[in-house]
Amino acid sequence: AAAAELAPPPELFSPQRRNSAGTNLSDPSVLQHLRRELDEYAGKLWQASPLVDGKRLRGEGRPVYSPYQRRLAVGQVLASGAAEIDTALQTAESAFAAWCLQPVVKRAACLQTAADLFERNRAELLALCIREGGRTVSDALAELREAVDLCRYYAANALTLFGRPQALPGPTGEDNRLGYRGRGVFVCISPWNFPLAIFVGQIAAALLAGNSVIAKPAEQTALTAMAAVRLLHRAGVPKPVLQLLPGDGAGIGARLLSDPRVAGVAFTGSVATANLINRQLSQRPGPIATLIAETGGQNAMLADSSAHTEQLVRDALQSAFNSAGQRCSALRVLFLPEETCDAVIERLIGAMRLLRVGSPWDFDTDVGPIVDDSALAALHAHLLRIAEFGKVLYQTPLPAACANGCFFPPSLVRIPGLAVLEGEVFGPILHVVSYRAGELAQVVEAINASGYGLTLGLHTRLESTVQYVARHARVGNLYVNRNMIGAVVGVQPFGGLGLSGTGPKAGGPNYLLRFAVEQTVSINT
Ligand code: GLU
Repeated sequence: AAAAELAPPPELFSPQRRNSAGTNLSDPSVLQHLRRELDEYAGKLWQASPLVDGKRLRGEGRPVYSPYQRRLAVGQVLASGAAEIDTALQTAESAFAAWCLQPVVKRAACLQTAADLFERNRAELLALCIREGGRTVSDALAELREAVDLCRYYAANALTLFGRPQALPGPTGEDNRLGYRGRGVFVCISPWNFPLAIFVGQIAAALLAGNSVIAKPAEQTALTAMAAVRLLHRAGVPKPVLQLLPGDGAGIGARLLSDPRVAGVAFTGSVATANLINRQLSQRPGPIATLIAETGGQNAMLADSSAHTEQLVRDALQSAFNSAGQRCSALRVLFLPEETCDAVIERLIGAMRLLRVGSPWDFDTDVGPIVDDSALAALHAHLLRIAEFGKVLYQTPLPAACANGCFFPPSLVRIPGLAVLEGEVFGPILHVVSYRAGELAQVVEAINASGYGLTLGLHTRLESTVQYVARHARVGNLYVNRNMIGAVVGVQPFGGLGLSGTGPKAGGPNYLLRFAVEQTVSINT
């Protein structure tokens, strides 16, 4: 009976596991239905608060407004204080052992159910991503799909990796096995640019490996996080095993990460914050904690003169301006050969004229808002500074309706080289650099020298160039003759090198392993 309980249900174990079906946005009846679903949540006000041991803190929170309309209320967030942080740690620590001892099949079943619940509650989750996070409708749909697929993919993965210990060879009379178990309390710190997919992906991985979790969502998207945690609890994740601590990142981080009960941290965000977390973890007493960090990029797209111009322009445009450039995978610097540079720039400008910037609540918006005023100010400051070295070639005009929101015009800027950029520019600014024929190898060297290594796009019809760049570029994800965003779960495991992250890759077959510890058992039989 015990063996039967441990055997994974066939549908979880199926090698035919597929990602979920997408939504056909070119079908008018699908659009109409989606419009009706979303409109039900047009005026809803949500609440987020610390959720510790299943108990919500009550009280008046900070009001939250939509990034595309500063007067449009979305709800309220009550921040976590010292008492909630301490109770969350204590609760997660006590809940760990029992959760870790559960058969992995039970943990996987919870995440499978969560994926089903996310799909069943899609309208509310989409409305939250749009109204709180400023995600466009197509971004929100892709993000929900990614959250669902990550849960199912990691659940299937957990069964393969952790289902039964691996038998190892040894002398006769000795039984050697290698197994995995959770590390303990895992802190998951997620960004606002994927308020659902990255938030849920980190938590799902940590839970499946047998950890208890304290989730700290980005300040800008705590309402979406609260809705996701409620669904995870409803799916069967025991309440003491998953706590939510919304609020100020610096304050919560300092208290939480100085505690020796934290066994691991999964973080996605800036390089500066990843370094701060690393320092905080290394300065506390007690065991060494694991840090999984997925940070930024200074991602380039490199075209040679054999590149197909229409395809290059389309892929550069999507890579730079989808999600208003607020993806860590987004294109920041386009390298063009001198001989085709002007023609490509002309076509890029032509395509930028057609971009619709506006409210993400509208289905025909291509480029939505910047997440908040301080992110917007950073983009303005960058453009002012870079004007000294470069030339703004074009900016898509902002319609009048954008006046009350955090909007930045999609911008094309010519610069002399990578060296004038100071780190990652997180928004819809595409820099262009031209290079001389025969200097492609130097361009690859300059890209490597930036120290980042997340995504790289390459447009060429020469097989030898593909081979050269694949061998020499130090990046986590290389995309050839296509756009360089929207890594697909289980298809394009995602994550970078150097300043861009520690690995392992999200949505890949090895991701869960870093969340677990290995245990060898040797029995003299
Ligand atoms: N995985 C996402 C993509 O491929 C980017 C994740 C991020 O921005 O953090 O576009």
